[in-house]
Amino acid sequence: MMAAIAAAERGMSVTLLEKNEKLGKKLYITGKGRCNITNDSDVENLLAHTMTNAKFLYSAYYTFPSQSMMELLEREGLPLKTERGNRVFPVSDHSSDVIRTLERIMRRAGVSIRLDTRVQEILSREGRCCGVACSSRQRGQESLAAEAVIVATGGLSYPSTGSTGDGYRFASDTGHRLQPRYPSLVSFVIREPFVKELQGLSLRNVSLRLFAGGKERYREQGEMLFTHRGISGPLVLSASAYGAGRKEALSVELDLKPALSEQQLDDRILRDFASCRNSYFKNSLGKLLPAKMIPVVIERTGIPPEKRVNEVTRQERRRLTELLKGFSMTVDSLGEYNEAVITRGGVDVRDVDPATMGSRRLPGLYFAGEVLDLDALTGGYNLQIAWSTGYLAGASAAEWE
Ligand SMILES: Cc1cc2nc3c(=O)[nH]c(=O)nc-3n(C[C@H](O)[C@H](O)[C@H](O)COP(=O)(O)OP(=O)(O)OC[C@H]3O[C@@H](n4cnc5c(N)ncnc54)[C@H](O)[C@@H]3O)c2cc1C
Repeated sequence: MMAAIAAAERGMSVTLLEKNEKLGKKLYITGKGRCNITNDSDVENLLAHTMTNAKFLYSAYYTFPSQSMMELLEREGLPLKTERGNRVFPVSDHSSDVIRTLERIMRRAGVSIRLDTRVQEILSREGRCCGVACSSRQRGQESLAAEAVIVATGGLSYPSTGSTGDGYRFASDTGHRLQPRYPSLVSFVIREPFVKELQGLSLRNVSLRLFAGGKERYREQGEMLFTHRGISGPLVLSASAYGAGRKEALSVELDLKPALSEQQLDDRILRDFASCRNSYFKNSLGKLLPAKMIPVVIERTGIPPEKRVNEVTRQERRRLTELLKGFSMTVDSLGEYNEAVITRGGVDVRDVDPATMGSRRLPGLYFAGEVLDLDALTGGYNLQIAWSTGYLAGASAAEWE
């Protein structure tokens, strides 16, 4: 949509082909239906939050930074607001308003929108891209001639929204290299069976460390939750961006009490014990931990649950503090595409000119958005990649001779 706008506003005759029955199905579900449109920060910050091929995005980000996107939408009458971490949303909290606004801009710029139309192949003649072959229920099979074609077919995540990876095939059929693809910004599947007992429990202000091959790759404090087969939530999604595609074994470690040192935590435990001298160990942790967590922690410390707290030894207490400061879990795998926010990998950026988004293999062909080997952290950054590359691709395609 962004690419179509940029090309049409430069006087080009533009046709947008969308295989779904409506526009922006993926956009509709972004930000839990509120659409975190972008991140209101400078280009340095956009680059810092881009995980893969940040340098490739220099031109795109500088040509169309987040403020340009915000201005475009606000000029069109969509009020925006900025929340924690510079995340930008429509004031209405409805992603549908973003889609409607983009559609209005497209229609005014004269973009012809064809829904229910699936592109099947990129056409080329004499070494130049010359159109697409597509099919639709209404018109059947047809070839559309074009001086330039922009592939903005998205990745593989949430395939029900239309991202089924067609663009990767278009790219490889026309001689472009592909980088392996992986789900990212996704939950972790945890090996230890105890996670099932913790299902539904959410934790705030915990610190999570991700290790790959024993080496720490990520450490952050925030919120997470336990699911039926692992862990999820904001901290985990961010951590997954540091684990996606890694060959080494992954593990995580939670610090359940990041504000306390081991010594402070031990003092705290001793105080709790002192306030219930004759209680069983299993009844002494209520002030320290959420109820669901207690049986799991007790089991993992190996301290007999029916031991009186005044009989718990210093060594046992040490096992307890070590566990609370380093609650380790083995990551069996990352979640799948149907629950991943983005796809890592895709069209190799070495085959694309960063100044134009034009193909280096087939003149007249352009790429934009998640189909490229680009991805970023949560916070509006992935959509900004789509807006910036889409704008640059559209503007460049319009100027291409
Ligand atoms: C649950 C969820 C929440 C998210 N929330 C946010 C968020 O709040 N902020 C953020 O920055 N990012 C978010 N993202 C990521 C963001 O949605 C994507 O990075 C972004 O939509 C990618 O844009 P795109 O235009 O490249 O691809 P898409 O948005 O996937 O669009 C590709 C379009 O191409 C169409 N298409 C595919 N193949 C064909 C074909 N052969 N012929 C015709 N049409 C075709 C598809 O139907 C689709 O409409 C979220 C993702 C998910 C899954």
